[in-house]
Amino acid sequence: MITLLESVDVRPSTVIAVDVGGTMVKGALVRGGAIVARAERSTFHHAAGAMSTIELVVDELLFTSDMAGSRATSIGVACPGSVHAGSGRVRNAVNLGWEDEPVAERLRATFSLPVAIDHDARAAALAAGASAGLDRPDTGPAVFIPIGTGISASLLLDGVPLTGASGRAGEFGHMRVVPQGELCACGQHGCLEAYASAGGIGRRYRAAGGSALLTTEQIVSARAHDAVAQRVWDEAIDALATGITAVTALFDPLCILLGGGLSRAGDALLLPVREAVGRSLAWRPLPSIQISALGPDAGLLGAALLTRALRTTSQNQEMT
Ligand SMILES: [Zn+2]
Repeated sequence: MITLLESVDVRPSTVIAVDVGGTMVKGALVRGGAIVARAERSTFHHAAGAMSTIELVVDELLFTSDMAGSRATSIGVACPGSVHAGSGRVRNAVNLGWEDEPVAERLRATFSLPVAIDHDARAAALAAGASAGLDRPDTGPAVFIPIGTGISASLLLDGVPLTGASGRAGEFGHMRVVPQGELCACGQHGCLEAYASAGGIGRRYRAAGGSALLTTEQIVSARAHDAVAQRVWDEAIDALATGITAVTALFDPLCILLGGGLSRAGDALLLPVREAVGRSLAWRPLPSIQISALGPDAGLLGAALLTRALRTTSQNQEMT
């Protein structure tokens, strides 16, 4: 299934891909379009914080690549928050406790390898768009919405994720969808992320008296006999549909791809979202709303794709 890099990677080398989430730091060695090894830690596994956990994961993958006789040549990192790819810094990531974190500079200094970083939704959108054939100039706008601990979104224009004037494009989860709504980790009330992220669904289910033992997937499955689960899920769908309606009205996308851990809910997510968006956009045809085929690996494969720019730069430098 994972072959999207082969067409663009005629001289495949091994790269380290890292997908930083609020719950887990997932890492992989990617070679020739395939994930050949994995390493992961809980985000705050290291007492010194998320950045030190990322270094642990990279160090383990570098050791693995050395043992395999194919040393990794670059590092690609997908991060949440306000990510500035040019400087390699994350200006703000509330789930990680970062304020102006020099991620690329620190990894370059520690491992002496070139480093590319970008927003996790934009990196994942690169991979999801490529796998869905939406990375060509003639395909029209597409939107990728990964739903996990948080929620973000990326608008693909001619296959390229929009960055925005200040690097903050993609913070879809902090769009206010419920006036006077519940408090979000960002300090605002009524954010989409507080209602429809996997983290928000679990928190709201437990706050409403649901079982503390259930995972988000179990909450989704429990709806038939658990009124609290059904209500929390319905409110998550309504919040998500409000966000998708706004994005559709504004950009008229050809396709909306849902990804991240919550996309494993499949039709339980897809069918009511289509129905709710259809009700609020009755004046126009709906865009195609699908589950991304890449699943939770989109972020990792996108992080690997980010390193293409590093290799293009170094090849250009070799030629001059
Ligand atoms: Zn928020």
